[in-house]
Amino acid sequence: LKSPYHGGHLEVIVGPMFSGKSEELIRRVNRAVIARQRVAVFKPAIDDRYHATFVASHNGRTVEAVAVRHTDDVLAHLTGQGTLLTADTALPDVVGFDEAQFFDAGLVPLALDLADHGVRVILAGLDLDFRAEPFGLMPDLVARAESVEKLTAICVVCGAPATRTQRLIGGQPARFNDPVVMVGAQEAYEARCRVHHELRR
Ligand code: ADP
Repeated sequence: LKSPYHGGHLEVIVGPMFSGKSEELIRRVNRAVIARQRVAVFKPAIDDRYHATFVASHNGRTVEAVAVRHTDDVLAHLTGQGTLLTADTALPDVVGFDEAQFFDAGLVPLALDLADHGVRVILAGLDLDFRAEPFGLMPDLVARAESVEKLTAICVVCGAPATRTQRLIGGQPARFNDPVVMVGAQEAYEARCRVHHELRR
């Protein structure tokens, strides 16, 4: 069960919503657990602070995770208070991140630092936002990763491989300039291919 890479490295899993990114992250993490490796998984906290939770895939599989507000909390959790990684820090063998696109920009240097300290870092996240534009820090992670897996979902319109996430507001395609968070709006997301991905003008 040895990694094909020598020492620490970054593995990135990208694709639209419903493409199985969380499923794949859970699969890789569970295999590490079966191999008796130490793992830690983090995801962004939406409202609550720093708490124990789960990463869940749309098909119902889960793995334990810690919800964090900032990347600083990740380091604090891993080092037990500290803010720096040293040669003595007892790090897990594998550190996973789900919804990586929602982390602050500190995730990139943190992931690199962990890899430089020998950790296998697995990051799952959306490569594109609902406008089909590169999502935040994801391009940076993709460029720096040793391994990138780009997954597809099934287009709900035609059944072709879906590479994009369709945002619907009140049943209508969202506009390019709609805010990323719309309070009180009836929002939904669907997997769509390039042909069927729409933005309202
Ligand atoms: P992601 O993390 O990429 O959003 P998940 O791992 O949470 O994806 O969920 C993947 C699961 O979503 C699939 O195994 C399938 O059961 C379900 N699913 C729902 N809608 C679709 C779709 N349009 N295409 C593919 N899978 C879908």
